[in-house]
Amino acid sequence: MICVTIAKETNQGLRESWQRAARAGAKLVELRLDYLIEPVDWALLLRDRPTPVLVTVRRTIDGGRWAGDESHRRTLLAEASANGADWVDVEVDIAPQFPRSGISRRVVSFHDMNSTPEQLSEIAQACAEGDADLVKLAVMARSLRDAFRLLDTIRLSHANRPTMGLAMGPLGQFTRVANARSGTNWTYAAWESETPPAPGMLSFDDLASIYHYESINHDTLLYAVIGDPVGHSKSPLVHNAAFRHHGLNKSYVPVRVPTEELGWFLQNCGGYGFRGLSVTIPHKEAVMAPLAEACPLVRLTGSCNTVMIEPEENGRHYRLSGFNTDLDAALGSLVEALPPGPQGTVATLAEVNVLLLGAGGVARSLAFGLSREGANLTIVNRTADRAEALAAETGATAALWADRDRLAQKATVIINGTSLGMSPQVDLSPLGPDCFHAGQVVFDTIYIPEWTVFLKSARAAGARTLSGVDMFIRQAAIQSQLFSGGKEPPVRLMAEKLRAALSPAP
Ligand code: NAP
Repeated sequence: MICVTIAKETNQGLRESWQRAARAGAKLVELRLDYLIEPVDWALLLRDRPTPVLVTVRRTIDGGRWAGDESHRRTLLAEASANGADWVDVEVDIAPQFPRSGISRRVVSFHDMNSTPEQLSEIAQACAEGDADLVKLAVMARSLRDAFRLLDTIRLSHANRPTMGLAMGPLGQFTRVANARSGTNWTYAAWESETPPAPGMLSFDDLASIYHYESINHDTLLYAVIGDPVGHSKSPLVHNAAFRHHGLNKSYVPVRVPTEELGWFLQNCGGYGFRGLSVTIPHKEAVMAPLAEACPLVRLTGSCNTVMIEPEENGRHYRLSGFNTDLDAALGSLVEALPPGPQGTVATLAEVNVLLLGAGGVARSLAFGLSREGANLTIVNRTADRAEALAAETGATAALWADRDRLAQKATVIINGTSLGMSPQVDLSPLGPDCFHAGQVVFDTIYIPEWTVFLKSARAAGARTLSGVDMFIRQAAIQSQLFSGGKEPPVRLMAEKLRAALSPAP
């Protein structure tokens, strides 16, 4: 279940938001009375309530706003019970001195806004012993391992007493979805707040309509986009839509994986139910180390953007296989954008002068694909050694990053394979506006934003432009086929989901 957290400064504001949440489908609402700046109006709040309600008055040490008198706070919690709140939230340290009263059920909660304590199981046990109907653990993940430890603790504690748990912060955000698989009773969702009441909290809309939280259970298989950062990724939109289209019990989440935890994550994620990964910056090369098998394109390009995870026969080990869906997607996209050849013949890249900016994962795929098609390829990259190495591997020419504007003026096809211009650095461009002219094809692999400064300048100069959106959908469609066991990807639906989330063309 999704518990919608409503935090407003007035009773009326709480009530109105609650009604809107109920109309949107919320089945449980948490009212955060610590945000109120006026006395609580129990009659307005709890009479004819639109959904069951959990009442919370969170202290500042636990991440809330209540800095007032503690006995007043406890009086409010007692009044909530007396007024028939369905649930009240009582912190573990006060639970022993705050006996159950009225008909309300008790969430006995533990919060750590700074870390994930080592003794998490003992803390869960203490919450249960505080006369809990539900144990709640909310901790700050300082590492990915913290977040997985939290999931382990929920599973173990849940066997003893119903337990909900989540890891706060960017490293723990995926636990707000994946906790459903560990048996948690509900997850908290933000409602109508620009700054969520807790770090990393997802919105009700995202949990309900992107992640379909209510349908995740112990048997749900997990898929993820891994990278660092990863919050900008639109992959959950398209892959969850595809899973739902096929009626598969699978869920796709963004997991921020710091470089130093990549090896640990790859070794252990299978045991947590992960069966497939989309790999993004900066892991496309490093992810190859533990692969048991790599497809020919991964071996050719040295870049892997998809990992499949299969349990081995003993059920305790997992076999990782790597794929590259970028190469075919990027080339397919580019060839379709080329003007037709003489007398309407199909366009080809053979003998076309191409300038490729970048030598990272996506540029590697493009470089190998372009040289396979016979293009006259020049590669420039901020780090010259990488451009030279890639040029040597692909039979291309390496040039200096400083010469890129001059080279661009002479190129027929220009491709940005760097992350310059990608959100949030949307004002940057790898080339100046004077590099473009009519007759060129200019391709930016970036898809967020779709209309980068690079593409806008090219279009203003009359060049044919191609954004990373088409490539993104193509590579996601190939991944989707892998993730869904070979089912035909719903490409149109995936594209619609992506386009709806991107800003319209200027
Ligand atoms: P990557 O492996 O991390 O490579 C990043 C590239 O950008 C490297 O060449 C790097 O140069 C260059 N770069 C980064 N910051 C720079 C700066 N400040 N100045 C100059 N160059 C800079 O990343 P990737 O996976 O190849 O992704 C690159 C871009 O492709 C991203 O914007 C991503 O969104 C896009 N992409 C799109 C799709 C799609 O489907 N449309 C798929 C994958 C990727 P150094 O070598 O000097 O660090």
